[in-house]
Amino acid sequence: MTPPTRDDTSGAGTSSTGTSSTGRTAGSSVRGAHGSVLVLNSGSSSLKYQLVHPVGGEAIASGIVERIGESGPGHVKHTFAGNSTTRESPVADHDAALRLAIGLFDEVGPSLAEADVRAVGHRVVHGGARFGEPVLVTDEVLRQIRDLTPLAPLHNPANATGIEVARELMPDVPHVAVFDTAFFRTLPEAASTYAIDRAVAQQHGVRRYGFHGTSHQYVSGKVARVLGRPLEDLNQIVLHLGNGASASAVRGGEAVETSMGLTPLEGLVMGTRSGDIDPAVVFHLVRNAGMSIDEVDELLNKRSGIKGISGENDFRELHEKIADGDRPAKLALDVYVHRLRKYVGAYAAVLGRVDVISFTAGVGENDDEVRAAVMAGLEGFGFAIDPERNAGRVKEPRVISPDWARTTVMVVPTDEELAIARQALTVAQGR
Ligand code: AMP
Repeated sequence: MTPPTRDDTSGAGTSSTGTSSTGRTAGSSVRGAHGSVLVLNSGSSSLKYQLVHPVGGEAIASGIVERIGESGPGHVKHTFAGNSTTRESPVADHDAALRLAIGLFDEVGPSLAEADVRAVGHRVVHGGARFGEPVLVTDEVLRQIRDLTPLAPLHNPANATGIEVARELMPDVPHVAVFDTAFFRTLPEAASTYAIDRAVAQQHGVRRYGFHGTSHQYVSGKVARVLGRPLEDLNQIVLHLGNGASASAVRGGEAVETSMGLTPLEGLVMGTRSGDIDPAVVFHLVRNAGMSIDEVDELLNKRSGIKGISGENDFRELHEKIADGDRPAKLALDVYVHRLRKYVGAYAAVLGRVDVISFTAGVGENDDEVRAAVMAGLEGFGFAIDPERNAGRVKEPRVISPDWARTTVMVVPTDEELAIARQALTVAQGR
């Protein structure tokens, strides 16, 4: 069996004999001792799925249906036993998308019946103040997820639709909602409160919720296991640097600060999102640039971040442009790294003592230049990186700091699907 690593997030090839989209490939049996869990991540126009052995941690099969509800053909890719099968066909809605995915399990394998699916785990972006734990989906839970739509207008309706369709198609399996915000329910009030009129904030749920919680929780827990130290003893900073990016400060396994807020727009510079910005930029653009609120929303979420500055939101392309002498690309990287360093310093102050800093997700796991730049010149804080240990892409948890450094710096590949699968199974077993 392949050891539990995480593959290149660039995605596998699209041929019918491409590589696996995850390194956690399963052995010959699709039926583990504890069955399997189907993890679903329904976006507004995509459906990602993964069938996971929740105990061993292997991905048995995975796939993605893209361009749901869009004109022209949808794109489907299903990966099982190291082979990828792709299809191009119109996908009208999430119902059609899930039927397609289930059809591919029947046709290409593995058979969902043989895989003994014990639970379906659904990624839900916003749990608001209501959900601090994964929950078994009921009609009432589904209604509450939809009620949170004003806080996550792009995500929660798609998540809810995915759940609804999956419950119809797989009625005999328990469905569990796992919330991206849940890990941050422990934020102290000083960290979760925006300094605005208290009555307005309370009436409209305006506070900092945090996102990527499943990843921050998984990585901080994994750090403790890899180092063989009690989680309760560790003060950690986790840097989840993917296309979306967030930082967290975790004391003794509990989140005490995180960079995303009411929505995933706050905080670090991201692939296409601005992160922190003076809120008056919005007023300025509406009053003086003739932009509507929707246009500013689109600007800050889709046309900002490193893409806004350089035209590129993928770090591989960004580095190529920098090597070609492209100045905006260099500026984008400088702004990105500067913001990250500010957060690392701020979270060191929040924690008082930092035992571990870990990098994760697409950029954090693969981009040694970013990791080196974030940590450069911070020896005075006790933070340092060993260039040899840092070199290259990282697929297994690895310490990248020198032995003499006070703080351990690590790369820890995240695995949100496995974390969701395990939480879903725990809830399903506790019914
Ligand atoms: P994620 O959201 O975690 O899937 O991360 C996706 C992002 O990771 C991409 O947009 C790239 O910017 C970045 N990424 C993926 N592979 C690499 C790589 N080999 N080197 C640098 N950045 C990478």
